[in-house]
Amino acid sequence: MSEICPVCGLPKELCICEEIAKEQQKLKITKTRRKYGKPVTVVSGFSGKHIDIQSLTKELKAVCACGGTLKNSVIELQGDQTEKARKFLVSKGYEVSIEEEANDRRLR
Ligand SMILES: [Zn+2]
Repeated sequence: MSEICPVCGLPKELCICEEIAKEQQKLKITKTRRKYGKPVTVVSGFSGKHIDIQSLTKELKAVCACGGTLKNSVIELQGDQTEKARKFLVSKGYEVSIEEEANDRRLR
């Protein structure tokens, strides 16, 4: 038995809400620094209920092989994971832009 999506009424395997939701996300990856100069990579811009940010955080931590936390729909990854995180999210179908908070040279 499969679950029925409450939004489109289709079984979860056929549900395209997540695909649509993904396309609507305008994710932003920000490379920044915390106290003590530790680099962190922040992934923000999630909106809507159809994105499972929890498991996305898990996947990102695995892909980047780093620690990370999820707080208020914002994923924080330890270290500079900009490129890995971007590649991963793009491969998942998200639209991602990169912003640099420091004065380093801008990434493409
Ligand atoms: Zn649906």
